[in-house]
Amino acid sequence: MSAHIVILGAGTGGTLTANRLRKELSDVSISVVDENDRHVYQPGLLFVPFAMADPEDIVRPRGKQLHKGIDYHRSAIAHVDIETQQVHLADGTVLDYNVLVVATGSRLVPEETEGLTGPGWLEKVFTFYDLDGATALAEKLTTFDGGRFVVNVVDMPIKCPVAPLEFCFLADWYFTERGIRDQVQLSYATPLDGAFTKPTSSAQLGGMLAERGIELVTEFNTGEVDGEGGRLIGYDEREIPFDLAVVIPVHSGAAYVADSPGLGDTLDFVLTDPHTLQSAVAPNIFAIGDAANLPASKAGSVTHFEGEVLVENIKRFLAGEELDGSYDGHANCFIETGFHKAMLIDFNYDTEPVGGHFPTAVGMPLLKESHLNHLGKLMFQWFYWHALLPGRDIPGVKADMPTAGKHLASASTP
Ligand SMILES: Cc1cc2nc3c(=O)[nH]c(=O)nc-3n(C[C@H](O)[C@H](O)[C@H](O)COP(=O)(O)OP(=O)(O)OC[C@H]3O[C@@H](n4cnc5c(N)ncnc54)[C@H](O)[C@@H]3O)c2cc1C
Repeated sequence: MSAHIVILGAGTGGTLTANRLRKELSDVSISVVDENDRHVYQPGLLFVPFAMADPEDIVRPRGKQLHKGIDYHRSAIAHVDIETQQVHLADGTVLDYNVLVVATGSRLVPEETEGLTGPGWLEKVFTFYDLDGATALAEKLTTFDGGRFVVNVVDMPIKCPVAPLEFCFLADWYFTERGIRDQVQLSYATPLDGAFTKPTSSAQLGGMLAERGIELVTEFNTGEVDGEGGRLIGYDEREIPFDLAVVIPVHSGAAYVADSPGLGDTLDFVLTDPHTLQSAVAPNIFAIGDAANLPASKAGSVTHFEGEVLVENIKRFLAGEELDGSYDGHANCFIETGFHKAMLIDFNYDTEPVGGHFPTAVGMPLLKESHLNHLGKLMFQWFYWHALLPGRDIPGVKADMPTAGKHLASASTP
């Protein structure tokens, strides 16, 4: 009997893994499970509030992204029984697996923060981290004529840790274009001790906030959101007053992970080997993307690079061979900086973002704002639907972090 590979989640990681496996293994059956049929291109959520993307243009049916020969189950996942090697779905279906891939991403849990979804939610307090929130915020921004505007990350980890900074830069551009920038006091409140997680780019991004007159409030741990009164209240009792707040809620793993003993950590992220992507709980369970508890960014680029190593390791596992431990934490992020420019950063577990070019000496500039990078960011949506999800290789872009073209002498190891 052929092996049955069950993939939980048909987002970025689940889809690209299923499609790559279907191409590379003819003698296995593959099932993918997801609770809804709307695949959102999440990097596009950044552009929706500023009317740079139409909400409907960033959504496609999930089933259509999966190649022929892949079974697609539309149901929520109830739990995984690791002993019996079975996945129980909310619709009562039970799927037996030989190999399980957890690709259920991360979940926004705004209810974890007191008051966040209480009075004022979707009136003075918004998020752009899901489609409904980004759409509602787009409407709100058209009527916002000035006042105190705060962007707040409640806690780490979050998806795409640069996205809130990009939001600040775009807000600066957007209000400038509308001729009301001098009437908007922009601030960015983060639990980190700087603008970003990596020290070198944190200093650079912090400088860019200052140049644009955006106040940076560090080590701010939001304890409560008073939407009616317009206040963020920190656990240390500091308060940030606002007329409009854009909040990035706490993230956790999928809820069923908590009901699957041994699978996840306290935040319901899957305990995963950072180099092989094999889970700690059982050798035939792997994790990819935001669902894994890795020290890598929760980003689509990371998920894409992980996919290459993951597929190789599923093949090796099925063949009884030693796993490939080569995933290096490679992440690659465009950072939109407003005024039709963007920066690009490329790093891994051990190497901080450095200057130079990507992917080789004649590629796109690293750690520098440029129009070319902005075009790269916009173009990426096409690559996402037509190359990344179908499991095609993107020319010149590999799972391992490239070193050609980089000023590695300036790199430091965190
Ligand atoms: C605003 C924003 C901007 C971003 N910008 C960028 C960027 O510029 N570059 C970049 O690289 N990344 C970016 N990202 C991050 C990127 O989108 C994610 O890291 C990536 O999609 C992770 O893929 P994934 O497969 O792990 O999770 P997802 O793509 O989120 O897929 C998870 C899937 O699991 C399903 N699921 C979850 N729980 C269950 C359940 N119980 N039962 C059934 N199905 C379930 C969900 O429906 C979903 O389809 C951004 C994210 C956001 C929110």
